[in-house]
Amino acid sequence: MIFYGSKSTHLHSEQVSGIKCSHCEQQTTHNISIFGRYAYVYWIPFFPMGKKGVSECNHCKKTLAPKEMNEPLKLAYQNVNGNTKSPLWYWSGLGVIAVIIGLLAFNSSQHKKDVVNYINEPQAGDVYEYKPNEFYSLLKVASVSQDSVFVISNDYEIERKSKLYKIDKAANYTTEPYGISKQRIKELFESKEILDVDR
Ligand SMILES: [Zn+2]
Repeated sequence: MIFYGSKSTHLHSEQVSGIKCSHCEQQTTHNISIFGRYAYVYWIPFFPMGKKGVSECNHCKKTLAPKEMNEPLKLAYQNVNGNTKSPLWYWSGLGVIAVIIGLLAFNSSQHKKDVVNYINEPQAGDVYEYKPNEFYSLLKVASVSQDSVFVISNDYEIERKSKLYKIDKAANYTTEPYGISKQRIKELFESKEILDVDR
């Protein structure tokens, strides 16, 4: 169950003087208060949901919603409301999500660049995500010579790429290494038979 809802906080109050109260008929000071509302999920503020405000007559203590205010009071209220900004922390949840998405996108583009380097400069220990047919498997680089890469096939194939980590255990590489030319490795990467490299 997801707990969500909205909540108000007091943002700002301001005294405005010299406005006639339509309730007590006094030319007096009014206290204008602005409240901001934000949506939350699990107590984390996500985004602002607008502002509301009231005025209170300092003489008769009558409080008025904007639609009940007379013209001069409404103008003063709109001025105070316009100068009151919702705080940035109202955006906390969306801000955190935006930062996470940004980091993930950055990591993913960085990894794509790294993989091209790994393919061009293979190293012992590299693990290739390999898809020779409809199944996925892994090739582990045992050694690298001048023009060839010697790989050990993983003993297993698996149906989903996301499950490859399950077969990536030292005990699953039991066969003899065999050589593939570095040129062929590049071709396999370009034809998407080698999908990714873990180093
Ligand atoms: Zn009044």
